[in-house]
Order: sequence, then structure tokens, then C-alpha cells
Amino acid sequence: MGIKVIDTHCDVLLKLAEDPTKRFEHDQHIQANLQNLQAGHVRVQFFAIFIDPDIKQESKFQQALVQVQAFYEKVIKPHPQMKHIKKWEDIQTLQDGEIGAILALEGLDAIGNDETKLSILYQLGVLSVGVTWNDANLCADGVGEERGAGLTRLGKRMIVKNDQENIITDVSHLSEKGFWDVLELTDKVIASHSNAKKICPHPRNLSDEQIKAIVQKGGFIGIVLYPIFITGTNHATVHDLVRHLEHFCKLGASKHIGIGSDFDGIFTFIDGIDSSSKFLDLFDQLEAYFSEDFIKGLTEENFLSYLKRHHLS
Ligand SMILES: [Zn+2]
Repeated sequence: MGIKVIDTHCDVLLKLAEDPTKRFEHDQHIQANLQNLQAGHVRVQFFAIFIDPDIKQESKFQQALVQVQAFYEKVIKPHPQMKHIKKWEDIQTLQDGEIGAILALEGLDAIGNDETKLSILYQLGVLSVGVTWNDANLCADGVGEERGAGLTRLGKRMIVKNDQENIITDVSHLSEKGFWDVLELTDKVIASHSNAKKICPHPRNLSDEQIKAIVQKGGFIGIVLYPIFITGTNHATVHDLVRHLEHFCKLGASKHIGIGSDFDGIFTFIDGIDSSSKFLDLFDQLEAYFSEDFIKGLTEENFLSYLKRHHLS
């Protein structure tokens, strides 16, 4: 099968920004490095800009810019095969052997209450905006906040702004109340790296009601390969992941799911699937459970259909 993979989440930029000696090309401590993306037939890779919650608020935007700079200087510039996807249509123009790279903000913490900063991030090429990480920010609460508040007035304005600018809003990490608030304001919604709560009751996973609502909106969910979100422990097998996939299918989401690996943001792995280079092994194993059509949808086609459905490409 001619597999190509679209992966809606990795944390490579955090590693590159933290350690100037790390190189994207083949650093063995980077799971989604260039060599591994090539070996795993990755076609499009999302690169998250993740802001450590412990950084002082006044330095957060600066830290976002440092990661954007790492994206340009270390991912794009030295590697002609890496193509920065600046607008969704650019995915269609990728040539054989090229890998599309998408900038994604993981949490609006970086902008504080300054809408201009979000506009600047759009200008720099950010195409997907996560509302929160696990903590609260001025736009909403993350899943880690007991308070569980939804969108603030500022948060609502930022979601509408995303929608108007053809930017995807990402609800992974967002409080449940925030999730429902977002769905009232935009159809251009994804959960870039989340699994099914029914199978693994972790706060980062999605309830059946949330999954069904994303399907109804024509949205998309990236299945995350982190054992903690698969079994609730540091150990998981491909078979454990299959239980999530089957549950998504049962809820009518078979055409709305893909891969949001979370490589470089995770510390344990599904047995044998410890970097992007192992994607083909993963899909080989899934062939024992699912049809070829389902696997093509999961690896690439469901995300491309999502973009088409929302007139993004
Ligand atoms: Zn995350």
C-alpha cells in the first residue's frame, strides 16, 4: 500500500529551541527528525509551538518567536525537501519526496490579551491554533484546571478571528466547557492529539458526546500514540490502540480520525512504535484489524477531506 502520513502533532520545535546543538536532520533524541519522517512516509507534519507554563507571561510571546525561528532556521532552511505550508492549498503542490511542514500554536497563552500578537503569528505562518494547554490562560481553562471554565470574551473573539482567517481551532487540552463554547463559534475545529475517554478515562481524552459532536461538525481528531492516553499506564500495544480506533468507528467517526502522534512531547511509547520511522510498522499491524480503505483514511485522506469540507484547500 502506498502509505503517506499526515501527523497533526509533534513537539520537535521545543527540543530544537531548548538545545542549540540539536539538529533536525538525524538527532537520535528527536523522534520526528527528518530521517524518521522520511522513513515513516510522512507527507505533512504539524510542528507545535509549545510554551512552558512556568515561563513568565511577559516572556511567552518571545518564547513563541524563538520556536518559530527554530522552525525556519533548523527545519525549513537547511532542508530543501521540507516545504513550509503557508496556506492550506500549498499541500496540493507538494512534489514527490517533499514533506509539508505546518506551524501550529499549542495554547493562546503566548498572546496574553494582545490580539495583534495572534495576527503576527498568522503572518509568520501559523495555520492551527490550540486554545489552551492544560492550564488556564486569558482565553479559557485547560483540562488541568478544576474550575473548568469555558471561553472568556477574549477567547470567543480569538475563535471568531481564527474562523474568519481560515485558521483551524484545536480543542485538544481544552476544558470540556471550552470545547462546547468553541463548537458554537466555528466549524473549522480539530482535536489534534486526543483519544477516546470511554476506553481510557484520562482528562485529555474526548467523551463520546464530544466525539459525536466533532463528527457532526465535519471535524477531525488526531489519534495520539502516548500510552498514558491509550491505557492510562506507561505501557501500550498496537492492540490497545485498536480498541480506541474501533470505538471511534462505533461512534461514526471512521472518516474523521487520523494520526496526531505527539512524538517529542511523550516519554513512553506503544511497543515498537517509538519514532516516526515506525509508522509503516504500525500500519502494517493495523492491516490485521482494518480494511485498506480505513487505513488510507486514517493516514492521510480523512484530513484532506476535512480541509475540502471546510473549503480550506
Ligand atoms: Zn499536547
